[in-house]
Amino acid sequence: MGMLLDGKAVSERFREDIKKIVEHKKFKGEKVPCLANILVGNDGGSIYYVNNQNKLCDKLGVKVKSVHLEEKVSEKDLLKAIDNLSEDNDVDGIILQLPLPKHLDEARITAAIPYEKDIDALSSISTGKLYKGEKCFVPCTPKGIIELIKSTGVEIAGKNAVVIGRSNIVGKPVAQLLLNENATVTICHSKTNDLKEVSSKADILVVALGKPKYITKDYIKDGAIVIDVGTTAIEGKLVGDVCFHEALEKAAFVTPVPGGVGAMTTTMLIKNLCEGLE
Ligand code: NAP
Repeated sequence: MGMLLDGKAVSERFREDIKKIVEHKKFKGEKVPCLANILVGNDGGSIYYVNNQNKLCDKLGVKVKSVHLEEKVSEKDLLKAIDNLSEDNDVDGIILQLPLPKHLDEARITAAIPYEKDIDALSSISTGKLYKGEKCFVPCTPKGIIELIKSTGVEIAGKNAVVIGRSNIVGKPVAQLLLNENATVTICHSKTNDLKEVSSKADILVVALGKPKYITKDYIKDGAIVIDVGTTAIEGKLVGDVCFHEALEKAAFVTPVPGGVGAMTTTMLIKNLCEGLE
């Protein structure tokens, strides 16, 4: 019987560290870190994330500047808002809530965030730097996943890691970070032949496909670490991609949904903000 890998508990440890960083800065008379978040329109999920960021910043003693723009804002006005925050010396990090309304060009707009303030690594420059191993911010969800795996105490180097999903925001960066930790990494996607065969060889299995309860115990190796990134809302409840109770029968560690990966993401954002470029 495996163990629940508790994202809330792990993220709490990081929050304590962040509090200490902020208090230390205050003690030395240095500037308190300042987050700028930009929300366009009234997407329910985005409002939820921004509110969470604001609450956490408040709890940790971090400053926030929130910019809320109307749904039909022009690209020019949104770029102007990003420019203002980029030039504002008080602002250490900018997070633009995605997705954007359809009339806005996401790639062009995220490219306007200078990489020194791009704390969720949204721009292509940050992505390029991550893949080349250059100094940049590590995107928050993938960073939280690696920290959760490390929290088990299991050595990542040399392990067989399988990532199911190849999105730019989760699958690809997680695979790159696992590679940086010297795992042997396989990336699976919708065209992968015999997914069960590949995933059941994984010592570390990261599942980010967005299909509720798709991964049953047949996909899981005995003693594996299983990280469930999936979050699908069903009848008001979040459901993961992994059959949690079946996974516990075989794996050594399994993250729950909710309370696993999602619990880490905002904490990693504020950690990036307070620590600066790695
Ligand atoms: P996405 O862009 O829809 O990508 C899904 C990936 O899964 C694609 O690469 C797709 O393959 C692959 N896939 C779909 N069906 C498959 C199958 N039957 N077998 C193998 N691979 C399959 O999703 P995403 O943005 O990465 O998000 C994935 C899930 O994570 C979603 O539920 C999302 O809500 C959740 N999420 C959670 C957090 C968090 O903080 N907890 C953060 C981000 C995302 P193709 O490329 O071939 O289409």
